Amino acid sequence: MTSRRCSVCVHPERAGIDLLLARGASMAELGRQHGLSPHMLRYHKNNHLAYLLDPSVGLGPLDLIGIRTMQSRARRTVHKGS
Ligand SMILES: [Zn+2]
Repeated sequence: MTSRRCSVCVHPERAGIDLLLARGASMAELGRQHGLSPHMLRYHKNNHLAYLLDPSVGLGPLDLIGIRTMQSRARRTVHKGS
């Protein structure tokens, strides 16, 4: 399922990016903050985000902890930028 060629999948901030994408964050804004193209973010959201959007898959405890960490970090980044 996971493409190694997707620059979002291999991004160190992927967990936070995934969460923001799932919440409908602006791809242009995310791309600007993380050095990714909005086109790639859209591709990633459409093809690689199923694990977040499909409740039957769910997230393991480690994933949830990681996402919470990334979430707060992303929130700080957004505030710092404004
Ligand atoms: Zn991807």
